[in-house]
Amino acid sequence: MGPSSNAGFFDLGNITIIFDTLMDPFSTEDLIKASEAITNKNPFLLINSHWHIDHIFGNHLFPNSMPIMSSFGTLNQFQNSLPERLNLFKERASTELKNTEELLKKEKDPNKIIEYQNDLVTYKKIQDPNFTLRLPDLFLSSKMKINGTERSVEIINVGNTHSYDDLIAYFPNERICFMGDLLFANLNPELAQGFDNIPFAVDPINFKNILEYYLKKDIKVFVPGHGTLCTEKEVKESIEFLDKYFIKK
Ligand SMILES: [Zn+2]
Repeated sequence: MGPSSNAGFFDLGNITIIFDTLMDPFSTEDLIKASEAITNKNPFLLINSHWHIDHIFGNHLFPNSMPIMSSFGTLNQFQNSLPERLNLFKERASTELKNTEELLKKEKDPNKIIEYQNDLVTYKKIQDPNFTLRLPDLFLSSKMKINGTERSVEIINVGNTHSYDDLIAYFPNERICFMGDLLFANLNPELAQGFDNIPFAVDPINFKNILEYYLKKDIKVFVPGHGTLCTEKEVKESIEFLDKYFIKK
């Protein structure tokens, strides 16, 4: 269904926070189960880093009593761009279901089989007329600190970068930063074209400035929106990528 994304959870001691959801419904369910098993708590808050469907699709799997936080930029896209995108998926659903069922019949690779089966569940869900995407409830325009009993995290609105008003999560003491889609572990020239008419960078200059700013912070682990855990190396590669395809044209 497209490139699979990353999500995570934070155990702050007394509070568990989820950062982003996943497109495949079972992955989001697994994420919730893992967060509850490891932290021994129900999640307190879900953060949507940005509006792209592979990061927000699982929002509906959380209880309505649990708030979802994003930026106003994300809310704006939820209201103005997502309905159209969801309709696109709805229109494609019956063809995709047919194609995926055909592929599934021929497939031998057990991992591919699971992937196709998950795609079938997702498209069936999208086809359901009662299915809606759950909107965020809380909106962050600058920065907030969430203080837990064991550790604290800064949630920062970095402005327009990859998308509109992206949120990142920074642990200054642990030297970890969850970058959302400001960071991809593996970049290739095709990404520069965007995905399905969605640009890779809404504001390449600010995007680069933000990456340079966090590069100076001596962060040990950068968690990307897609791919495996990163270090400064991938952040530098992302800056070069922005320069090559968006800035130094
Ligand atoms: Zn994205």
